[in-house]
Amino acid sequence: MNAQPVIFDGHNDLLTRLWLSSAVDPVHDFIYGTLPGHLDLKRCRQAGWMGGLFSIFLPPYAYVKNSHPDKLSNPSGSDFTPQEIVDICCEQLALAQQLQARSDGQIQICTSLAQIQACQQNQKLAIVLHLEGAEFLAIKPDLLDVFYDAGLRSIGPLWNRKSLFGDGLNASFPHSPDTGSGLTDQGKDLILECSKKGMLIDVSHMNERAFWDTLETIHQPIVATHSNAHALCQQARNLTDRQLNAIKQSGGMIGVNFDVAFLRADGQRNTQTSLDVIVDHLVYLIDHLGKDQVGFGSDFDGCLLPDDLSDISQISMLIERMQQRHFSDDLIEKVTSKNWFAVLDKIWQ
Ligand SMILES: [Zn+2]
Repeated sequence: MNAQPVIFDGHNDLLTRLWLSSAVDPVHDFIYGTLPGHLDLKRCRQAGWMGGLFSIFLPPYAYVKNSHPDKLSNPSGSDFTPQEIVDICCEQLALAQQLQARSDGQIQICTSLAQIQACQQNQKLAIVLHLEGAEFLAIKPDLLDVFYDAGLRSIGPLWNRKSLFGDGLNASFPHSPDTGSGLTDQGKDLILECSKKGMLIDVSHMNERAFWDTLETIHQPIVATHSNAHALCQQARNLTDRQLNAIKQSGGMIGVNFDVAFLRADGQRNTQTSLDVIVDHLVYLIDHLGKDQVGFGSDFDGCLLPDDLSDISQISMLIERMQQRHFSDDLIEKVTSKNWFAVLDKIWQ
């Protein structure tokens, strides 16, 4: 392959990192300067990373309380207040809007494949807004329309916490994805409403019962934006062969997560992890789903990366490894962008 491939990626936590940042103006730093972490505009451009699904996410309370108490209205509390939950999600949406508004046309929130492809042609960063855990919609359901109008086109109703919408997914390694009861009636109503709006429904943080509930409730391609193969790493967040087959049958796809704990056979948070392990998951998933239904779901800015891929600037190392493992140029193009484009287009039509 002569030119580096364009990369469109199923999951990152940049917006949450900007929200947590103690920098004076992290939006400015992202666009015009340098920002600690896995992503900033300059590094993304140089690496050919044109964007992907950007998560709006309520971080774990204990993490915010211990590391960023200034972000809480009551740092000695025991959990977020309902108002804080709503505020945190609205503030992350506002950060995405600021990225667009202050980037001098270099960053765009996209709601269609045509917009994403125009971004690719014009070397803009494409943001597709994704909601990871929908707790704030349990508090303020009317905000779904507000967020949709602002460009939200993808939703994972559950994160690891239990919520009005269902049990989360929380289990020690090794564990099957079967960690609790599935979607509540409110959870089913939420994904049905979002499906009717033409939104992507993400199963990446669902326990197994919620996964099957989703398949019974909605009838569209099912997507796991950032999960891996359970056969290779028995993390509860990874997908069993039965689940892989169901995703394949639905016409959906899987984005491979670069977090070492979701990659390694021993499940350890050990960054001395070969990039070959990422390729192993890609190969396994392609064997089970075919060449058209697997992509990247890096989890940049929300995960522990292998040492050889410490930020976006080193993504070419992974591409090289794929080439060494005999991925054709055509297959690399599918995995790095085309498969995401195709599935988003199918769901958004
Ligand atoms: Zn996640």
